[in-house]
Amino acid sequence: MTSINSNYLNLQGSYLFSEIAKRRTKFIEENPQAEIISLGIGDVTRGLPDAVTKAMHAAIDELAAPGSFRGYGPEQGYDFLVNTIIENDYRARGVDIQSNEVFVSDGSKCDVGNIQEIFSQDAVVAVQDPVYPVYVDTNVMAGRSGPFNSDIGRYENIVYLDCTAENNFKPSLPDRKVDLIYLCYPNNPTGMTLTKDELKVWVDYARENNCLILFDSAYEAFITEADVPHSIYEVEGAREVAIEFRSFSKTAGFTGVRCAYTVVPRELRGFDKDGNTVFINDLWNRRHTTKFNGVSYVTQRGAEAIYSAQGKEQIRSLVDYYMTNAGIIRDGLRSLGLEVFGGVNAPYIWLKTPNGLDSWAFFDKLLSEANIVGTPGVGFGRSGQGYFRLTAFGSRENTEKAVERIRKLSL
Ligand code: PLP
Repeated sequence: MTSINSNYLNLQGSYLFSEIAKRRTKFIEENPQAEIISLGIGDVTRGLPDAVTKAMHAAIDELAAPGSFRGYGPEQGYDFLVNTIIENDYRARGVDIQSNEVFVSDGSKCDVGNIQEIFSQDAVVAVQDPVYPVYVDTNVMAGRSGPFNSDIGRYENIVYLDCTAENNFKPSLPDRKVDLIYLCYPNNPTGMTLTKDELKVWVDYARENNCLILFDSAYEAFITEADVPHSIYEVEGAREVAIEFRSFSKTAGFTGVRCAYTVVPRELRGFDKDGNTVFINDLWNRRHTTKFNGVSYVTQRGAEAIYSAQGKEQIRSLVDYYMTNAGIIRDGLRSLGLEVFGGVNAPYIWLKTPNGLDSWAFFDKLLSEANIVGTPGVGFGRSGQGYFRLTAFGSRENTEKAVERIRKLSL
């Protein structure tokens, strides 16, 4: 018998998606003819762009030939991809990022989950509620959360920043000292964003209060409005207080291919137990190179191709396809008098459940009466109670059909 990390015992069961699957399976067993439409899980459905697959095929052929074979690459990513990222995602927007500040990885889930490892055990963590659960659970595993208090439905030592219709899903600043603040914009699950001025309030707060913002920007490609920043580094001073996470998963259909990157500016400093200054970038570099051996060459060539002229055009049409779905859902539900949020700068639509139904009651109604599977908002946190998430990642046909079915419901 081996002693275990008891923090894991503080984790709450991954209730949300298993409960959805359970209810869905039961419904199908009882109603085998029902044609279910899933607008629940946030996975994409369209194929990879042609420019990407061509580049990946060519890379495979390179690997087959002894003269151009490549084995282990740099853990932080090949220069060809890192430099392409910097040129297109940052310099083109007037943001200066250096190549030693970019870390290519196999996904933002791993990066946003692993980043907490380099911070002190007693760092106080703030998260938005509703929240992408990885931020919370990885801090629970690390022992920062304290026990789960089932009376209040929250971990005792985590600071929750409520995002509800009452504050237009823009949280207030923390009411006590925190060290790490996870912000996700465009937001999963609410689909809402902050303008540059609103984000500046957070950057200024972090500078004044010595905290670090962990900025998850997995849905950056879906931004359509001009006043929404594409990178936190567009805000003055953010290089001193923010790490940014980006993913190719939703942008380019890479959920199965796996590629993302994280930016850790050289300005970011921490301090050790003796009060000496330490560069956060050095720590992350050490962590990344020790525990990760790089994204495959083929994948990185595929990711590079996203930025070619053809790639950009194909990505644009992919994103437009999903955002048209988002518009169909948003406008369709609004025309029924529902209160609907998101879907303008993000592929998620967040709706207030009608008639005061709780999130799970609305789930059951939608499943049994319209044969549609969505995601109960309460699964993302206490503040998600009474809300419901639909995704724009379905096919056009299913999206239109789903809205028609909802139209026929008595709400
Ligand atoms: N961050 C957010 C907010 C997400 O919604 C997701 C995926 O659903 C991820 C990160 C993970 O992305 P990746 O596929 O790059 O691991």
